[in-house]
Amino acid sequence: MIIGVPKEIKNNENRVALTPAGTQELVKRGHSVQVQKSAGNGSGFLDEDYQKAGATLIDNAAEIFHNAEMIMKVKEPIEQEYKLIKKDQLVFTYFHFASYEPLTKAMIESGATCLAYETVERNDGSLPLLIPMSEVAGRMSIQEGAKYLEKPLKGRGILLGGVPGVKPAKVLVLGGGVVGTNAAKIAAGMGADVTILDLNLTRLRYLDDVMPKNVHTMVSNEYTIRELIKDSDLIIGGVLVPGAKAPKLITRDMLKSMRPGTVLVDVAVDQGGCIETCRPTTHEDPTFIIDDVVHYCVANMPGAVPYTSTLALTNATLPYAIRLAGQGWKKACQDNLELRLGLNVIQGEVVYKAVADAFSLPY
Ligand code: NAD
Repeated sequence: MIIGVPKEIKNNENRVALTPAGTQELVKRGHSVQVQKSAGNGSGFLDEDYQKAGATLIDNAAEIFHNAEMIMKVKEPIEQEYKLIKKDQLVFTYFHFASYEPLTKAMIESGATCLAYETVERNDGSLPLLIPMSEVAGRMSIQEGAKYLEKPLKGRGILLGGVPGVKPAKVLVLGGGVVGTNAAKIAAGMGADVTILDLNLTRLRYLDDVMPKNVHTMVSNEYTIRELIKDSDLIIGGVLVPGAKAPKLITRDMLKSMRPGTVLVDVAVDQGGCIETCRPTTHEDPTFIIDDVVHYCVANMPGAVPYTSTLALTNATLPYAIRLAGQGWKKACQDNLELRLGLNVIQGEVVYKAVADAFSLPY
């Protein structure tokens, strides 16, 4: 199969859909991998690395889209890419169709088959191609939080781990899923005093079992949250209610009870945020302050660490890409339910109910 890897052109997107290592795995299996020149630069992979791995370098995106049977991308196609996508081509990338009607319409018109990373789903309901980005964002939330706790950045001026003779900072993690677990692990490793809140007792039992002694678990409810925020230094928002907007666990009035310089990192901002005062920010201007409380609400946190994010994403996508390339999408999706659930549009028809419902399209 001919696999095309165009350079990502969405603003500030430095990831790439395939690494040189992934290229080699596909080439080894007899596939032809065509990579747009400089596609990997933002993630630290050079054209020579791809060439050594067996890729053919192509000058421009139009040629890649023209040649490829399967396009591998990171972000959803943007307007200037719509017209390049061909009938019967397979496009394997994040789409998030339900949030953008023009993209959905354009992909229907293209006649392509769209397999969305975000809806590939395992038996247990987990989303294997979203997990890596939650891992990155969860770990990064503590790195960013620790930075904004510094006084020159308007934080309380407290060191996360304290020092001998001085107590550490208190970190409150809302949600004990992938983001929350990764945040708690890093905060604990830095010596902070960590509390994780979740509604799911089974999950809390597991976390209590595997986390170090400086991590405590509590059941999430308004009463407990109101108590804990009074002396938390860093609060991480990592809750998710699948298919719904994030519940507002921290409301506007609660900011008044926090100490000046408390830092809130609302990772759930892409689902509306679990902190009422949160609004999406960017890596260029990541924070704002309300009632002396620092808010960090960057919607694409993994974008700041493209080397790690590209490797984490491609580690997860490559096994699926190998199946798709080896069997073709029809057979691969027939044999593999996880992949089948990733199908959103097949040659002009929407086949994913939530997408059809979002825009009242036939399903
Ligand atoms: P997850 O499903 O693994 O975990 C969510 C957890 O929230 C679950 O354990 C659930 O029980 C818990 N929860 C639900 N309601 C709760 C409540 N009222 N109180 C406490 N806990 C509650 O999800 P995840 O992968 O950790 O993702 C969390 C959020 O982070 C999602 O919105 C995701 O889209 C977002 N995210 C953002 C970025 C970014 O760059 N900003 C990157 C990756 C993920």
